[in-house]
Amino acid sequence: MPDRALPPGSTIGILGGGQLGRMLAMAASRLGLKTHIFSDEAAAPAFDVAAVRSVGSYADNEAIAQFAGSVDVVTCEFENVPAATLQAASRVVSVFPPANAFAVAQDRRAEKDFVTGLGIPVAPYAAVDSLDDLVRALPRVGLPALIKTRRLGYDGKGQVPIRAAADAAAALASLGKVPALVEGMVPFEREISVIAVRGQDGEIRFYDAVENVHEGGILARSRVPAGIAPALSVEAKTIAGKIAEALSYVGVLCVEMFARGGERPDLLVNEFAPRVHNSGHWTLDACLISQFENHVRAIAGWPLGETARHSDAVMTNLIGADVETWREAAAEPDLAVHLYGKTEAREGRKMGHVTRLYPKS
Ligand code: AMP
Repeated sequence: MPDRALPPGSTIGILGGGQLGRMLAMAASRLGLKTHIFSDEAAAPAFDVAAVRSVGSYADNEAIAQFAGSVDVVTCEFENVPAATLQAASRVVSVFPPANAFAVAQDRRAEKDFVTGLGIPVAPYAAVDSLDDLVRALPRVGLPALIKTRRLGYDGKGQVPIRAAADAAAALASLGKVPALVEGMVPFEREISVIAVRGQDGEIRFYDAVENVHEGGILARSRVPAGIAPALSVEAKTIAGKIAEALSYVGVLCVEMFARGGERPDLLVNEFAPRVHNSGHWTLDACLISQFENHVRAIAGWPLGETARHSDAVMTNLIGADVETWREAAAEPDLAVHLYGKTEAREGRKMGHVTRLYPKS
């Protein structure tokens, strides 16, 4: 075991108290590690399973410094952690993943520039600050296109399709006055993602690529294996590895990609998330060591665990009222049921997920 490894009994600090924080805390506790969760929500789902909880504003640098001072390492379970929050924490204790991974992932333009700079293909894109920019960019990115806010977009929020040049002004106006990015709509065959984990010593491991099906902009299902050619699966891992290396990343990183079919199938990166990811929930049941445990291992300086799957799997999200099916789900003895302890089943809210395993293909 490396010297830097945090011993059992150490405390992992997690910024964010959603279901990802909850599953991270559960994985940490399997390793004898404690968690302290900091959330701006009094009823955060992760609080149920944490040793210590703090409620406060992410903008309160003093509260963040106090939190950081009470733990042995800090990590994040959501993407839009303000840069100042990460700085305040990292003045006190190590923070993983590194702040620059958040800075890049939080701005779609910075993210696309960064990925392109690594020689990795993305959809044609252009930054848009005015209608002029958009009108000029459309012939280049092609139609149909999507205009997206550069910051704070998730689950399909903050993006509008443009089917004809005449829609441009209305599409831009509907985003409000914020920096935007327009990109060509990719005629993909499948959406896939790869979960990579990189340790403090630079060791890197990958989970198998999964196919993701979105409904209404929200992940509905993930299936592993992804059903793409073996060469593309290898390529997907190579891409995720390049991004992780270039960021000197530590922890779990998810890279979402479009797989195009046809005579020369290829991959384009859509975006990456500097955190554990919904499309990796299947690893809880189909792998010996889940994405959550491997994230904890990486940030705690432990050796990484096995990422190979022992089974094929389909993970289905329980979104909003879907959670009312929990009785039927629980009545199926071979279905793994995961509920996040959220009391209010609002539309579009991720309430839980179920995973079904199949013999490994
Ligand atoms: P995003 O917020 O970028 O993750 O986009 C959410 C979903 O919108 C993606 O998972 C895709 O289903 C779809 N999408 C985003 N960008 C594109 C694109 N350039 N071409 C086709 N579909 C896209």
